Amino acid sequence: MIRVENLHRHFGGFRAVDGASIEIETGSITGLIGPNGAGKSTLFNVIAGVLPPTSGRVFMDGEDITGLPPHALFHKGLLRTFQIAHEFGSMTVRENLMMVPGGQSGETLWKTWFQRGQIAEEETALRHKADEVLAFLTIDHLADEKAGNLSGGQKKLLELGRTMMVDAKIVFLDEVGAGVNRTLLHTIGDAIIRLNKERGYTFCLIEHDMDFIARLCDPVIVMAEGRVLAIGPAEDIMRDDRVIEAYLGTGLKNRKKAEAGA
Ligand code: ADP
Ligand code: MG
Repeated sequence: MIRVENLHRHFGGFRAVDGASIEIETGSITGLIGPNGAGKSTLFNVIAGVLPPTSGRVFMDGEDITGLPPHALFHKGLLRTFQIAHEFGSMTVRENLMMVPGGQSGETLWKTWFQRGQIAEEETALRHKADEVLAFLTIDHLADEKAGNLSGGQKKLLELGRTMMVDAKIVFLDEVGAGVNRTLLHTIGDAIIRLNKERGYTFCLIEHDMDFIARLCDPVIVMAEGRVLAIGPAEDIMRDDRVIEAYLGTGLKNRKKAEAGA
C-alpha cells in the first residue's frame, strides 16, 4: 500500500532520515522500532505530509503522494493520529468524534438557514456513528465525559476512534503506548487487531513496548541512525545481533569482545 523510496530528511547538516526505503503491505500491522533518535517519527511525519522530504519518494497504491499535505492524504484514507488538542478538552468524547468528518452541510452558513432538516438528519447519523465507534472501543460509558478528563490511555483510544469516523485505509500511530497502563494498552492492542481484521485497516505503528510489538506486528522494521537496519518477524528481529547492538550500543560490542577474550 505504501512504498517509500530512498527517503532523506535532513535538518541542517543532520541526517535524521538517511536513505530509508520501506514497504507497508495492504492488510498488515507493520511495526517500526529503533532507539531514540533513530528517525522513526521524522519518517512518519514525512509520509503523513507533516514534513517535506529533502529527497526521495512516497507512493500510495502506486500513486506518488510525496509532499502532499495532511488534508489531501486524509481524503485518500491515510491518517496519522494526533493528540487531542487542548481546546477540545472541554468538549465531550462524543462531540470530539462528531467533529472529525469534513464537508458537513452545517459548515456552510446559507445551508444552516435553508436546510435545517438535512442538517438535523446528518447530525443524527453522525451521532449514531460516534456511538458505534465508542461501543467498538469499549468506552461508550465515557460518551458524555469531557475529553480533558480522560486518562492518558482513554485519550489514545479516542484518538484511534477519530480515525474510525472516516474511511481510513492506513493509520500511522506514533507511540500509542506512551504513558498508558498495561490494561488499557491491551485494550488498545485489541482495538487495533479488530480494526485490522474486521475493518481491513492497515497499520504502521511506532512503539517501544516490545511485548506489544510482538503481539501485534508482522513485519517489524528496525531503524537506527536514519536508516533501515532490519525487517522481519518480531521473533527474528529480537534475536538479530545488529538490532541488539543498535539498542545497546557499544556496550554489547565490548561485552562480546570481553567474552571472546575470556
Ligand atoms: P525517533 O522518533 O526515532 O526517536 P526522531 O525522528 O524524532 O527520532 O528524531 C531523529 C533525529 O532528528 C533526532 O536526533 C532529533 O533530534 C532530530 N530532529 C527531529 N526533528 C528535528 C527538527 N525539527 N529539527 C532538528 N532536528 C530534529
Ligand atoms: Mg519518535
